[in-house]
Amino acid sequence: MWEIVVDKDKCSGDEECVNACPAQVFEMQGGKAEPVHSDECLGCETCVEVCPEGAITVTEI
Ligand code: SF4
Repeated sequence: MWEIVVDKDKCSGDEECVNACPAQVFEMQGGKAEPVHSDECLGCETCVEVCPEGAITVTEI
């Protein structure tokens, strides 16, 4: 299992993670990325790499 945390103060809502995630983990909610399907996460850290704000952390739990 992977825990995905989006720092809402850093998220600029550019949807990079929404578009890059191979598991469709993210949805936009109120202009911010929300990891609504974190149970589908593969732990690939693509979202971490593509986020220009450094707003996402992925941790194995
Ligand atoms: S680590 Fe990979 S699978 Fe998990 S949310 Fe990020 S991009 Fe999606």
